[in-house]
Amino acid sequence: MSQAKGELQWALIGASDIAKTRMIKAINSQPDSRVTAVFSSNADRVRAYAAENEIPKAYDTLQGLLDDPQIDVVYISTTNDLHRDQAFAAAAAGKHILCEKPIALSVDDARQMVQRAESANLVFGTNHHLRNAVTHRTLRKLVKEGAIGKPLAARVFHAVYLPPRLQGWRLSRPEAGGGVILDITVHDTDTLRFVLDLEVEDVIARSASQGLAQGGIEDAVMGVMYFRDGVLAQFHDAFTIKHASTGLEIHGTEGSLFAVNVMTQDPVGRIVLRRDSEESEIKLDPPEGLYVHSIRYFNQAVRTGTQPFATGEDGVRSLAVALAAIESAKSGRRMPVLYT
Ligand code: NDP
Repeated sequence: MSQAKGELQWALIGASDIAKTRMIKAINSQPDSRVTAVFSSNADRVRAYAAENEIPKAYDTLQGLLDDPQIDVVYISTTNDLHRDQAFAAAAAGKHILCEKPIALSVDDARQMVQRAESANLVFGTNHHLRNAVTHRTLRKLVKEGAIGKPLAARVFHAVYLPPRLQGWRLSRPEAGGGVILDITVHDTDTLRFVLDLEVEDVIARSASQGLAQGGIEDAVMGVMYFRDGVLAQFHDAFTIKHASTGLEIHGTEGSLFAVNVMTQDPVGRIVLRRDSEESEIKLDPPEGLYVHSIRYFNQAVRTGTQPFATGEDGVRSLAVALAAIESAKSGRRMPVLYT
């Protein structure tokens, strides 16, 4: 860490949309962290990106960035196929890692990424933003407190329309980790695991190509996850749905929780608890930006040895469930989740 300024110096691996639209602001919003460098594979692009986003240093080789002794933390937000090798290189260079989801394309690779960071005494976090929302944190608390009795079922509504500016590799490059399951089902999984505090045992999924994706990539999926304790969760994820709203419902023996407009990147949404015929709106703590909350916890983990809000293990588990969903959609069979 750069002790002189007491500030964590963050570097971006990938001149990406998510860094530009969310993460640079979130990192710079913290008094103890700042984005000071960016790497892109294209020299012209990285210079333009650095200038546009007021990032002091621009690198067009990954090693150049990793050799910079001032950098404490890297945020990896390249296409999904590149995360593994970039995380390996970052761990070898002694940098803490916040990695985008899916953290890799196989469970084995994902586990190795997390293990290499751990063996080097480095923090590894997964940027699952949704669990950072005050709504999902409140749902988890309510479920734990028994507000709905024993949870029996959940429904996730996460079918959206992929913004035109993002209609690239997700729709056309399977080798880059495209497709809606690796993009959105991983987030559903993480959110459900967090809210229910349960693990998924198996998955059954049916996917479709509804006109946006090419070359056999799925742009829509529906399915069911079976959690330990017999909890069933149904999910609908899509890039193709223009007019739906998002949400999460949890149904238990004593009540139901309806969280509306909560599968989003913004700190919005509301929760209603229904028990018998009574409905009450849940009062929420003041919202904090989802990505800001993620960075705040990550910085704290680096400084004090606590855990990031979503750990590397969380990234491994959400990936394992997504891969089971992909296999199920291909085979038409129910697939066990293989966590190792
Ligand atoms: P982008 O398509 O914006 O960027 C991915 C890579 O594509 C970049 O690293 C860059 O390569 C290249 N690239 C980007 N724009 C251009 C361009 N105009 N011309 C040429 N190349 C370009 O990806 P996203 O930001 O949508 O996603 C990045 C990662 O973040 C993924 O892993 C995704 O799953 C994740 N993500 C997570 C979200 C969350 O909320 N947690 C939300 C959105 C995405 P180079 O760096 O070499 O220039």
